[in-house]
Amino acid sequence: MKIFKEFPQNGVKCVVCDTNDNKPCTLVTIEGTTEGYTAQAIPIHVDCIDLLYDPTLKILVQLLRQGGGDQDHEQDIKRSV
Ligand SMILES: [Zn+2]
Repeated sequence: MKIFKEFPQNGVKCVVCDTNDNKPCTLVTIEGTTEGYTAQAIPIHVDCIDLLYDPTLKILVQLLRQGGGDQDHEQDIKRSV
């Protein structure tokens, strides 16, 4: 995972916190967009990443609150477990 020092300032927002605060970020590939060696990706702040591991499905996931923001993030996780 490559870490970029700055968040893109082109209007795109982090899907977790719904801001484009200029903090370190990484690019996450959008499922289903890979074509050959290219794919579409979205920037996500490094400090917004909070992955869960599902051993049954063998996937890493991050639950997102609709509309972004992370103030209710822990509540969302508790509801879904
Ligand atoms: Zn964020």
